[in-house]
Amino acid sequence: MKRKDFIKIMGILGISIPFQPILSFSNNNTSSVGTCSKPIFIIGAGAAGMTAAYLLGQQGANFQVLEASSTYGGRMKINTSFANFPIPLGAEWLHGPVSILSNIVNDSNVSINTVTLGYNPQDTSGYYENNILYIDTIANDFGTFEDRKFINSSWLHFYQTYILPPISQNITYNKQIVSIDYQNDIIILTDQNGATYEAEKVIITVPLKILKNGVINFSTSLPTSKQNAIQNANVWGGIKVFLKFSYKFYPTFLSFPNSETSQGQLYYYDAAYGQNTSSKILGLFAVGQQAAAYQALTGNALKDYILAELDQIFAGAASIHYISHTVQNWSTEPFIESAYLADVENWTIPYQLKQAVNNKLFFAGEAYNDNDWGAVHNAAEAAQIAVGDCLNSLPTDIVVSATCIDLLPERNPNKFRICGDFTNYTIQIIYTNGSQYQNLSNQSSPIIINTNNLPSSPMFLKIQNTNNLGPKLIQRLKY
Ligand SMILES: Cc1cc2nc3c(=O)[nH]c(=O)nc-3n(C[C@H](O)[C@H](O)[C@H](O)COP(=O)(O)OP(=O)(O)OC[C@H]3O[C@@H](n4cnc5c(N)ncnc54)[C@H](O)[C@@H]3O)c2cc1C
Repeated sequence: MKRKDFIKIMGILGISIPFQPILSFSNNNTSSVGTCSKPIFIIGAGAAGMTAAYLLGQQGANFQVLEASSTYGGRMKINTSFANFPIPLGAEWLHGPVSILSNIVNDSNVSINTVTLGYNPQDTSGYYENNILYIDTIANDFGTFEDRKFINSSWLHFYQTYILPPISQNITYNKQIVSIDYQNDIIILTDQNGATYEAEKVIITVPLKILKNGVINFSTSLPTSKQNAIQNANVWGGIKVFLKFSYKFYPTFLSFPNSETSQGQLYYYDAAYGQNTSSKILGLFAVGQQAAAYQALTGNALKDYILAELDQIFAGAASIHYISHTVQNWSTEPFIESAYLADVENWTIPYQLKQAVNNKLFFAGEAYNDNDWGAVHNAAEAAQIAVGDCLNSLPTDIVVSATCIDLLPERNPNKFRICGDFTNYTIQIIYTNGSQYQNLSNQSSPIIINTNNLPSSPMFLKIQNTNNLGPKLIQRLKY
């Protein structure tokens, strides 16, 4: 069984793996990362890149994002002119509960106003086979249907509203990274114009197809296991077409015998579902082999092919009511060149893809998550993990283990970084008289203390074993 199948079955059984924010620092001024001599660079400003940047920003880290295209969002791209609501050209549905959104924001003080809508199980679902159109309900055809539509909004709007504002100044556009030299402590990135950037760490979030196509040259070969995963991964191409009609002659979903196969997927669906609009917009979603017939055509030839297909199913209604259409072919989209990692891929592939290299290169994105892949929230989760790993790999002042506390040479007199297994320890910042200023015990590793943000009196760090076993450390933080 593939891990993805396993998770799906757990979902059916009502056992879900929580999408847990791994960064549980309080987002206040007492913690700050920033002692790196060079920034952490993030390559790509899609869902994963923006999430990584946002989380690093929450921790006060020194980071920069380099994006090849002229805008952010990647596969969350939308069209705002085709209808009076945003048309999602890539990511469209929230594949799961709305709590996914607050998990991405990772800040309980932020209330999220993005509106999404689940499907009514009694809505119509069409199935076309052997020249016959069968109409049933979504409940009967799909069973439990978790997907939710964004209403007058989109995945991109959610990122624009909640994730982008604090990081927008740190994104530089039209910078396509073509080489990464990670032989030395300082990592050198080179863009398409030969400009170089010095990085302490790098989080790579480019689509897997970009690595497959060898767009980025690595100074030292990536580990064989990762190279094999990159080469062997099955990345689907994909296309979406939206057609505007004067009359709604189609059901909420329309599927075929080949709608879900190991080779790809194909659906027509009511793209205006739940929107406050009178527009009748039918979406076509095709990935993998099922996309090939549509991708082989462009312009009027593609339109005529789709209308002929629909006319056959709906007794000529499509051609009569056709107004206009718009196409997004992801396989030819610059800097993306693909849809996503095949649903049927074996979990060992994203497992290898997500592995960090030499504690310098970290990987995040929809394809770099072995829990599940192919969706925005998978890309965001991969970014959370990569950011945690990246922060953990930064130099440390104090290491706590079950048996000892190691004090390492200070890297920066104003910052303290504590790493390790805090399970059996209380960690406090105390005044000279021993009274507590702040209890850090519930925070996860690493804890970063910015001494500039402490009160203007001598302050100490106290780390003590909760069972009064092992070592106790009292370290002066500031004079
Ligand atoms: C047709 C289609 C339908 C989908 N439907 C859904 C859906 O309904 N729900 C859902 O959750 N997900 C859906 N997805 C998947 C979702 O869009 C992706 O999983 C997610 O957006 C990927 O985010 P990412 O950050 O991994 O990659 P991307 O969004 O691709 O971001 C990568 C970024 O890296 C940039 N880049 C590339 N090369 C370089 C370079 N050399 N240097 C610098 N920058 C570079 C790119 O320009 C891009 O901005 C769909 C995808 C497609 C294609």
